[in-house]
Amino acid sequence: MNIDYKSTRDDQVKVTASQAILQGISNEGGLFVPQTIPDLDIDLDELPKMTYQEVAFRVMKPYLADYRDDELWECINKAYDDKFACKEIAPLKILQQKGMDKVSYLELFHGATLAFKDMALAILPHLMGVAVRKNRLEEDIVILTATSGDTGKAALAGFADVPGVKIIVFYPKDGVSQVQELQMVTQTGANTHVVGVRGNFDDTQTGVKQIFANQAIKEQLKQKGYVFSSANSINIGRLVPQIVYYYYAYGRLLAANVIKSGEAVDVAVPTGNFGNILAAYYAKQTGLPLAKLICASNENKVLYDFFTTGTYNRDRNLVTTTSPSMDILISSNLERFIYHISGKSADKCRELMLSLTESKKYTISPMMREKMADFHGDFASEADTAAAIKHVFDRTGYLIDPHTAVAAHVYEAYQSQFGLSGTPDDGRKTIITAAASPYKFAGDVLRALGADGAGDVETTTRRLSEISQTPIPAAISALTHAPIRHHTVCDIDEMTKMVTDFLK
Ligand SMILES: *Cc1c(COP(=O)(O)O)cnc(C)c1O
Repeated sequence: MNIDYKSTRDDQVKVTASQAILQGISNEGGLFVPQTIPDLDIDLDELPKMTYQEVAFRVMKPYLADYRDDELWECINKAYDDKFACKEIAPLKILQQKGMDKVSYLELFHGATLAFKDMALAILPHLMGVAVRKNRLEEDIVILTATSGDTGKAALAGFADVPGVKIIVFYPKDGVSQVQELQMVTQTGANTHVVGVRGNFDDTQTGVKQIFANQAIKEQLKQKGYVFSSANSINIGRLVPQIVYYYYAYGRLLAANVIKSGEAVDVAVPTGNFGNILAAYYAKQTGLPLAKLICASNENKVLYDFFTTGTYNRDRNLVTTTSPSMDILISSNLERFIYHISGKSADKCRELMLSLTESKKYTISPMMREKMADFHGDFASEADTAAAIKHVFDRTGYLIDPHTAVAAHVYEAYQSQFGLSGTPDDGRKTIITAAASPYKFAGDVLRALGADGAGDVETTTRRLSEISQTPIPAAISALTHAPIRHHTVCDIDEMTKMVTDFLK
């Protein structure tokens, strides 16, 4: 048996890839991390000729050591098919306009729910299906998920009507966009449950983590034939598929002759739970020539503060912004990075995470800080975000959503320092991950452009289409007439009861 994953909080825990995917999170609350980061045997010069699916196979295979080739191919082919509105799956938009030639946008929003979460959640149900077979699991799986807006719908779409699976999604009732909420409450599938929580995303995510850690509930459900798993980015089955598109994007830059083979590029990533950018970090570790990993936060700038001071402090109020999927103070996946820079010390990692729970903060050692040099952290205010949407559109005609705009702003601020005398020009090409379709946040995008953002989804998306001369995605049009199926709302302390009620 391949022993491939360890817990960030307990050195004794060792599981295979398929077990890690089934379980989601380790029993003592740690996250699963690859024991060694595999050295990917990919010749960069091959990348331009490879399809998304081929890149996916080559990148994911070493991370999923107990999946056979045919099993992995089956998952990939079922995931990256015509559910995506674009044959390329993740097209790279290289802007040619004056002054913008160094930046390209990696569009990760052509999946069923119009945000990058589809990239991993399209394949996770299939990876789990294989894992169930492999481990001869007899119980039904209950996917328990907290969402800041996009994970919820992408997980619902992925797991709806999958036999042997039930899915329960909790979202902050007043913390998601109109489209995001509508997408979730209209979800079909007899195995789906959607609940609005009176609280913010951190409350919701903490509530879900507490249910995972509640041994009594787990026992009770096991007797009824259920086990929990997670579709959040704490599941390595989410993280591994996200490494793929950094390789794919690099291949597209090569194919377009924008870079030479081996040339280092920067990436700028709008960040919340630290999943997407952690995937870039893994890509870099496995040999992809990435230089700076630019971590862009919105006004909830815990990560910026962490990168600049070495102290992670969540003792502050959560701000609701126009980039709700990043309204997060507890960035779950940072735990994996902490584990790696602590020299893979589960003891150290557990100590810091306990401190985060109990004292709401932790400070890393100077030695650990030195290992963060790959990252550049910064943030965009609400005004910066709106200005970036307008500025990019006015200069290039390219429309970006508020999350992507956070990264666009931070990227430009990062580059601008190099014009100053005495500062060497970074000079590198940059890939900005375009995390969601602007149509998902039509009202705010319209306001940023100086237009009227009021009205229902149908009105605002039509207006955005007229102004930007871009078509309304089919996934949005389908939404405006779909009946609402989920009406449940609960308090934070009722979340456990919701779960047991659904599973009666
Ligand atoms: C989830 C999400 C993010 C944040 O990504 P993380 O992996 O949580 O850091 C940013 N933008 C959008 C649109 C998202 O859906």
